[in-house]
Amino acid sequence: MLVFVLNAGSSSLKYQLINAKTADVIASGLVERIGIDGILKHEVGENKKLTFEINMPTHKEAIELVLKTLTHDETKVINSISEIQAIGHRVVHGGEYFKESVIVNDEVIKKIEELIPLAPLHNPANILGIKICQDLMPNIPNVVVFDTAFHQTMPEENFLYAVPHEDYTEHHLRKYGFHGTSHYFVSQEAIKLLENKKNSRIIVCHLGNGSSICAVKNGESINTSMGLTPLEGLIMGTRSGDIDAGVIPYLMERKEMNSHQIVDYLNKKSGILGVSGISSDLREVIKASNDGDKRATITIEMMCNRIKKYLCSYAGLLGGVDAICFTAGIGENSDLIREKVCTGLEFMGIEIDKEKNSKRASGNREINKKTSKTKIYIIPTNEEFVIARDTYNLTKDWLYLLQNENLNKIE
Ligand code: ADP
Repeated sequence: MLVFVLNAGSSSLKYQLINAKTADVIASGLVERIGIDGILKHEVGENKKLTFEINMPTHKEAIELVLKTLTHDETKVINSISEIQAIGHRVVHGGEYFKESVIVNDEVIKKIEELIPLAPLHNPANILGIKICQDLMPNIPNVVVFDTAFHQTMPEENFLYAVPHEDYTEHHLRKYGFHGTSHYFVSQEAIKLLENKKNSRIIVCHLGNGSSICAVKNGESINTSMGLTPLEGLIMGTRSGDIDAGVIPYLMERKEMNSHQIVDYLNKKSGILGVSGISSDLREVIKASNDGDKRATITIEMMCNRIKKYLCSYAGLLGGVDAICFTAGIGENSDLIREKVCTGLEFMGIEIDKEKNSKRASGNREINKKTSKTKIYIIPTNEEFVIARDTYNLTKDWLYLLQNENLNKIE
């Protein structure tokens, strides 16, 4: 069962061709600079990496090129596009409409369109990706998997903002949360590692370029750090995370910024990049800190303290914590950040084993001391696999019916 997983952004797209049953990635890649010039980076297995610089005025040419690369004589991994059985799309915002993944139809597209004001940069590109696939591969079913869906189980007291209630009912102002596919995947893996413990209390720290933390009770999200938009919460690569809302009018007046400029400032110029003045890439900031750069050191301290603050507050909401999971670029690779976050929390029964933590390894692993009441895991995330599996599960009956219909026709 081959599923084509597509994550269409405003000027880029990521894709994977996955066997949804075995989780094997047949090919993957990234198209960047759509509408500017165009670069396709395509990978097959560990060793075969190809780069094409081809003019791609729109997403249509980009997706056409990806499909051609998958099937072209010299680069092919499949003989024909008809070998793709379904397409799974990552969609950023599903609002309150979508609590799970769904097969695409006109009504679904209309609802994703309605949600554009909540995700003006992402949902239009996601819709474009769906429509182009429908156009280029008319007989293949499309499924949408939402970043927000997993957090739809949050109770009202955790998703409402303390503002006049009519702004929730009339303007949909509330916390939605993002990275849901990752939080879902990682928490499910943790539940397996906890041997399906009943009433599990898990905290997932998704620490990448964008970062969020999620409290998962019995497999359901009960709170998460991102909000109406992905700006809220942790200190990220270029986003400030939580900040006094009073900062906004203050800066608008002092620096004569308009609302677009302030959004850009908080989303693209702040966070690790803004504080360190070095880079949004934590590796460079850690290196500078090791070389004695004070701002780099304070950036790391601020970032870890923010994670710790959320971790402790979520432990309180959950009434204890059975497992803390680290995932994504920083969570999976930085022993320094994991150690700093967990150190000092021994009073809560959280004891990290420094040796296990600093050991290079791959796959799921436990990094707590034997005496630790809370398990500490590193769990590599796999959002594409969740998208492929949801797509497979939703479309397999549909494909079965279609095949039988064709068989009947042949008979
Ligand atoms: P995205 O949110 O774009 O998917 P990733 O999950 O790939 O991001 O995480 C990217 C971030 O991971 C980079 O910005 C980099 O700072 C960080 N990172 C990767 N490896 C390491 C490492 N060994 N130490 C510290 N940070 C790392």
